[in-house]
Amino acid sequence: MKIILIGPPGAGKGTQAERLAKEWSLPKITTGDIFRENVKNKTALGKKVEGILQSGELVSDELVVDLMTDRIKETDCVAGYLLDGFPRTVGQAEAFDKWLLKRKNKIDCVIVLDVDHKTALQRILGRAEQAGSGRRSDDNSEVIRKRLDVYEKETAPIVSYYERQGVAVHIDGTQNVEQVFETICSLKK
Ligand code: AMP
Repeated sequence: MKIILIGPPGAGKGTQAERLAKEWSLPKITTGDIFRENVKNKTALGKKVEGILQSGELVSDELVVDLMTDRIKETDCVAGYLLDGFPRTVGQAEAFDKWLLKRKNKIDCVIVLDVDHKTALQRILGRAEQAGSGRRSDDNSEVIRKRLDVYEKETAPIVSYYERQGVAVHIDGTQNVEQVFETICSLKK
């Protein structure tokens, strides 16, 4: 099963991705984690993307698509995978579809976690406060607003892109973690 999770920052994507990957025994590939790990380890990729992550802007489509398609070529992804944070623009979605098509593959389901901006903002600010000094460097209110703006402008259009393909499923992401998880799991039954 090849699954994509989409939702604004604060939608609970990371939490659900973690649980779903375990439940469905799928490798979970999270672009944000890959970038943060590279920044932490001061790799060439990390140095390239550090400033972009701190600003709340997006890394270039070309770089992300190359990174993800290389990752998905690995053997653990043969039976399927769960993508968290990719694709994030229509350009990435189109490039990814082309790449899949060449391999006679396609995405089975795109789960869209719907959360209004007010709830998303409150959740991320709450997360930042809770985490205290260990918080993400892009979890401050100015950058969060930027990330939400970037989501609306760049990422929200891919929802209709996948709706046109008939693979998008909307889930009410304002429910509590357990309810969201149960609702997503019931899709498979
Ligand atoms: P996230 O943890 O998913 O919010 O990602 C953190 C940051 O990584 C984003 O604000 C972007 O700068 C970058 N990023 C993650 N995924 C992508 C992507 N698919 N395309 C471009 N930039 C990305």
